Amino acid sequence: MPARFASSPLAAAAVLAALAGPASAQTIRAFDEPGAAKDVVAAQQAAKTAAEFTFLGALARTCFLPPSRSEDLSDTVPAYVADPGKAPPRSSWFAEPAKVFDNLYFVGGKIHSAWALQTRDGIILFDTAYPYNSEELIVGGMKKLGLDPKDIKYLLVSHAHQDHIGGAEMIQTRYGARVVMSEPDWTLVEKVPKRFKTMAPKRDIVATDGMQLTLGGSTVTIWFTPGHTDGTTSFTFQVLDSGKPLNVVYSGGTALVYEWDQPDWSIANLQKYIDSQRHLAAEARRTGATVLLSNHSEFDEAEKKNRMLAGRGNGPNPYEIGADWVQRYFQVTENCARATQLKLARLKAGAR
Ligand SMILES: [Zn+2]
Repeated sequence: MPARFASSPLAAAAVLAALAGPASAQTIRAFDEPGAAKDVVAAQQAAKTAAEFTFLGALARTCFLPPSRSEDLSDTVPAYVADPGKAPPRSSWFAEPAKVFDNLYFVGGKIHSAWALQTRDGIILFDTAYPYNSEELIVGGMKKLGLDPKDIKYLLVSHAHQDHIGGAEMIQTRYGARVVMSEPDWTLVEKVPKRFKTMAPKRDIVATDGMQLTLGGSTVTIWFTPGHTDGTTSFTFQVLDSGKPLNVVYSGGTALVYEWDQPDWSIANLQKYIDSQRHLAAEARRTGATVLLSNHSEFDEAEKKNRMLAGRGNGPNPYEIGADWVQRYFQVTENCARATQLKLARLKAGAR
């Protein structure tokens, strides 16, 4: 190995990977390392500039952490369902519930969030958690906050992954709530029954883009935003903060889903995701959204903000970030998806 190739361990690794044969993920240089693809770095820089310190979680997850895997269609019962003793310890997921706005309550955990919108005629629940913690977080959380889970009239499941649909079967069968999910995700649940054992609600309302759901004076508009799953949905609705109406955009799926060894499929899936980010950003702008909510604390910092709320007094609500910051969230996710698409295109072309 000539000495100039060993100038840094990363450069040496890239050379070794190149010598080993066809392009692989390791040959994509990171950040502004000499030789890094300028277009990739520019997209990452745009995401970083948009994020500042407000969306570090979204930036890290979508630009710099390893991918979420593409849809694994194997149909096996998850370990924590087959043996409840295998569920992660409570200390890893428990968080206190919180009243966030006059009519919106956080009933999630440290990592995954669920939200209860109270109306005059009952409750609209957004997402659940895993089967092993939905009882304590959602049912228990609502009771702690003085809400009656029997009042849940609708459950909107943003997408059919176990961390969000885990309590849906229980909420549907126990409380008779109507469950809303898009066609592709209903189909997914039906295709792999073992994977969703104890979690799968019976097919009910099929969500479509622009569908409105009204209950007791509150209207939730559903947006079709595929990319994280084929049927991910997101929402816009209004809440009240000390009597003041605020518009919320709820992003139903944030992490990028792609595979380095399936560049064609991945580039197309990321394009779906980018189109969805643009679609939801436009609806957020149109409805005047100044609050961004997510089903992972990683992206909206719900767990931290809930603790800030406790000491709020007459100060601002930490969830009200303003319309510009809401738009910046979508700039982060779109640019990180674009950077990843560019890396995949270079892999496909055999470039380093
Ligand atoms: Zn997911």
